[in-house]
Parts: sequence; structure tokens; C-alpha cells
Amino acid sequence: LAKELGRNNYQFFTSDLMIRAQHRYTLERNLRRALVDEEFLLYYQPKVSLDDGKIVGAEALIRWHMPEMGVIEPNEFVPFSEEIGLIVPMGRWVLSKACEQAQKWRQQFNIDFKISVNISPKQFQDPKLPQFILDVLLASGLPAHALQLEITEGLLMVEAEHLSLVFDAIKTLGISISLDDFGTGFSSLSYLQRFPIDNLKIDRSFIHEIPENQDSVVLTKAIIAMSSALGMSVTAEGVENLAQQNFLKEAGCDEIQGFYFSKPISVEDFSQLLSQHTSTSSAN
Ligand code: C2E
Ligand code: MG
Ligand code: MG
Ligand code: MG
Repeated sequence: LAKELGRNNYQFFTSDLMIRAQHRYTLERNLRRALVDEEFLLYYQPKVSLDDGKIVGAEALIRWHMPEMGVIEPNEFVPFSEEIGLIVPMGRWVLSKACEQAQKWRQQFNIDFKISVNISPKQFQDPKLPQFILDVLLASGLPAHALQLEITEGLLMVEAEHLSLVFDAIKTLGISISLDDFGTGFSSLSYLQRFPIDNLKIDRSFIHEIPENQDSVVLTKAIIAMSSALGMSVTAEGVENLAQQNFLKEAGCDEIQGFYFSKPISVEDFSQLLSQHTSTSSAN
């Protein structure tokens, strides 16, 4: 019996592996097709200044509209795309689309509006990235100061020799760099000196526990104080209620992003939001 059970387990294990391999293969094929057929789209989530409550920019967030499957969230395909290297062409698509859209809004509403784009480690390590970004800026007309790249702490731990070169090239263009999900990585704080970071984006796991959790309160205050002492601006992500917003304003945080103000929304909805927002601001 034991032998039989063992064999069955073994068979189950093999077929499970096969299913997983097949799934990966299918996913990869579907993702490559999606890139060609333009099945990806960008949602935009506003970033709001805590000084005056105005929309100062947005983060572009990718979605995959798969025919007959509906909209698929990035956590379902971004990590895999990074793994197979498809993130590089996908990320290029995101950059050009986001810059183009941001420049349209800047012109349409006559606003100083900054667009943030997530850049995965593999993309950032691509030595062709600065030239590609320059091409995108020239094609879209977006000024360099209106583009911000969101990178994660993990990237800074890679001992890539050309990492500093990419940073230098990007900084020379006048583009700003934000450290996303700050506080969740294993990064030593010395990276903040070594690399030209302009903005810290406090991870939403800290914000989520404010104001109940005293540790989150203390850590958030410390991150805000540190960023200002080092001459960086600071953004809080995942702001879901008024209490969190009030706390962050009091603590001196520069800008917030989160469901309390708005979820990530489509181009059409964002245009509508901007048109309401800019008309009410000018009336005040
Ligand atoms: P992220 O860069 O940290 O983006 C913020 C995520 O938090 C978004 O999830 C957003 O919808 C979510 N979020 C915003 N406000 C709130 C809130 O108040 N509460 C909660 N619970 N969540 C909030 P999303 O759009 O599903 O994106 C997930 C991650 O996928 C992103 O995390 C980013 O790491 C990655 N990603 C998205 N788009 C791209 C892209 O174009 N390129 C790359 N490389 N990665 C991307
Ligand atoms: Mg981000
Ligand atoms: Mg984030
Ligand atoms: Mg996060």
C-alpha cells in the first residue's frame, strides 16, 4: 500500500509540475501576444500635495485587458515578466504611453503635472534606458522635470558597475528618482548617500497601521524627518482615510497617494477628475 501511495504521490507531483510548466509557457505566449496586440492599458492614480490639496501628478499603473478574461492586475504578471525579461519592452511601452498622456494633460489643463513611472530592476539595468527616455521626452514634448522614475530598494543592492552610470545619465537629463515601497527592503541607509534619490515613498504597510500602531507612527515620523534632513521630498502611499491624511500633514509629509483621494482610474476618468479639480481650484 505504501508503495502504491508513493507512486501515486510521485505521479501527482510530476503532472503538477507539467501543469505549472505549461501554465508558464501559455502565460509567456499570451503576454508576448498582448504586447503586439496592445492589450495593456494604463490606469492613473493621483498624487496630492498636502500643502494645498492640489493634484500634483499621478502614478501610471499597468493593467492587462485580456480578451474574455477581463482586467488582470500587475501583481499577476509583472513579476513573471521581469523574470523572463519581457518587462524591458513592456516597460518601454509604459514609459512612452505615460509620458505622452501626461503631456496631453499638462497642455489641456495648463498645469504643472508630474508623471511617475515604475521601473523594474531589469529595466533600470538596461544601459539603453537613458537614451530611450530621451527619445520618449523628445517625441512627447514632456519636460524632463515632469518625469519621475519609481525604483525599489532591491535594485540598489545589485552590485552592477554601470548602475551609477545609468543614475548619472538620468540625473543629467533632469529626471527625478523616487524610492518606492520605502522601508520594506533590506537596504542599508547608506544607499541614500550613494545614489541620487530625490523622493522617498513610504510603503503603505506603515501607513495602513496609522494611527493605532505606535511603531508605525514613530517610523513614519522618522522617515519624514530623515528625508527632509537629507533634502529629499516624501510621499505616502496607501492613504485610505482622513485620520491618516491629517497625521501625515501634521508630520510634514509632502504628498499623498491612496484610495482616500482616489483609486487608480482610467484615462477618461482621470481627465474628468482634472477638469473638475482645475475648475474648482481656480474658482477659489
Ligand atoms: P506600487 O508601485 O507600489 O503601486 C502602488 C500600488 O498600491 C498599486 O497597485 C495601487 O493600486 C495600490 N494602492 C494605491 N493606493 C492604495 C490604497 O490606499 N490602499 C491599498 N490597499 N492599495 C493602494 P497595483 O496597481 O495593483 O500595482 C501593484 C504593483 O505592480 C506596483 O506597486 C508596482 O510594483 C507594479 N507595477 C504596476 N505597474 C507597473 C509598471 O508599469 N511597471 C512595473 N515595473 N511595475 C508596475
Ligand atoms: Mg510605484
Ligand atoms: Mg509603492
Ligand atoms: Mg507598496
